Amino acid sequence: MAVDTGALEHEVVEGVPKQLYVGGRWGPAAENGTFGVEDPSTGEVIAEVANGTPEDALRALEAAHGKQADWRDHPPRERGEILRRAYELMVERADELALLMTLEMGKPVAESKAEISYAAEFFRWFAEQAVRIDGRYAVAPNGQGRLLVMKQPVGPAYLITPWNFPAAMATRKIGPAIAAGCTMILKPASYTPLSALALTAILEEVGLPGGVLNVITSSSSSAVSEPVIGDFRLRKLSFTGSTEVGRKLVEQSARQLLRVSMELGGNAPFLIFDDADLDKAVEGALLAKMRNIGEACTAANRFYVADPLEEQFADRLSKRMASMKVGRGTDADVQVGPLISEDQRSKVEELVQDALERGASCVVGGRRLDGAGYFYAPTVLKEIPDDARLLKEEIFGPIAPIKSFEGEERAIRWANDTEYGLVAYVYTRDLGRAFRVMERLEYGMIGLNQGMVSNPAAPFGGIKQSGFGREGGYEGIEEYLETKYCAITY
Ligand code: NAP
Repeated sequence: MAVDTGALEHEVVEGVPKQLYVGGRWGPAAENGTFGVEDPSTGEVIAEVANGTPEDALRALEAAHGKQADWRDHPPRERGEILRRAYELMVERADELALLMTLEMGKPVAESKAEISYAAEFFRWFAEQAVRIDGRYAVAPNGQGRLLVMKQPVGPAYLITPWNFPAAMATRKIGPAIAAGCTMILKPASYTPLSALALTAILEEVGLPGGVLNVITSSSSSAVSEPVIGDFRLRKLSFTGSTEVGRKLVEQSARQLLRVSMELGGNAPFLIFDDADLDKAVEGALLAKMRNIGEACTAANRFYVADPLEEQFADRLSKRMASMKVGRGTDADVQVGPLISEDQRSKVEELVQDALERGASCVVGGRRLDGAGYFYAPTVLKEIPDDARLLKEEIFGPIAPIKSFEGEERAIRWANDTEYGLVAYVYTRDLGRAFRVMERLEYGMIGLNQGMVSNPAAPFGGIKQSGFGREGGYEGIEEYLETKYCAITY
């Protein structure tokens, strides 16, 4: 029997609460306003969501602050079990959550499903970490006293997330905050609030007490955030998004000297040395470039290929890119969805145009696709001049610029020649070279012979202008904990 996908789409969107969630209650925004959420593959509005105001955001902070003292005393095991149950419900409802994500963000539904699984894993990982928060006890070196070190929740946290991974970027913050005993306010991106609202409903269903997580959706992110960040009751800001906005938020948070975590933009180099396994490098390149339609902070932004392999690599990557099916992410065989907006598509177009005008050549793609939605063809560019903007700027689209190099030194120099430092990819079969290169790359993360680094059990994060702080791994929960030292004499 044929499935009526239109009805299914309607049902999953209808099933999500569209209001603000404050103090354990769903309700409208102060002025009853709403804003529309678009399907980027059609440009049509699929839902209206409460448009939170600064007043609503401060109400959310009041709720988070009011609940903090009680929540910190909740037994760690109970905090962990809430997360564990949320993990299980996410897995159980992965199909609906994935469809919802595809509708608001555009990525192919198989990728949305992979993100739901990745996002749920943060709840499982931090469910396990909640009961492993410890400190230490030591005899002072002179034997005259004792040193006791304890870890305590930082306090109310403000979590701001981007649209490109609408579920995982939220659970990567909510998970450790709950595990550590922090209350919080989540402000999801205005392009993709539905996935965050669906996650909130799951956490409510599994028994997260009211006031622990408060959610403010808004189309005025700056106006709702500034008063919260400037309020003395807030103790922590965790932001994932662009470097440009991150800088502004660091400035704002300086007034209160908030604890800050910044997961910002990237400009990942993808290095293929002459001893690399080319089959694996092509597979890794496709994953690092095309996952999420190229709209990932970890997306390979520049391919540097050893001279003897460049032609073969470009040829094979181009054939694969050209054969990818582009379309609405709800169709099961689609591999490349639309970009998030017309603005994003114009930016991608501008970067490609700039490279071509400066002398690059286009092997495949290089154009927007006609019709509804914000589609852009998978593109491979060669002979990239040194001054092309796309070597310096985050592309955030399905564009693979390839440049050949001679010698390890030059590859490392080019790779490090950027203000960003999130992730770099290296393909080589020479173990000595692998270690030499990994040690010298100025990045927070390295993928060696693999095109994806994300893993809930690993510390995700960057250096330089890709930010600071780590999410996931053992480090993730530390971002939500303070260290208290007690000097003891008895
Ligand atoms: P963005 O424009 O910086 O927005 C991120 C979030 O900040 C959204 O919720 C946005 O709300 C909000 N925001 C924007 N301006 C603000 C302001 N003045 N004050 C307070 N909040 C503000 O980034 P994006 O376009 O959503 O996401 C793409 C960027 O995120 C890329 O640069 C990507 O590399 C980066 N990213 C980094 C990581 C990482 O882990 N390092 C992961 C994913 C993405 P609105 O939606 O309402 O504008």
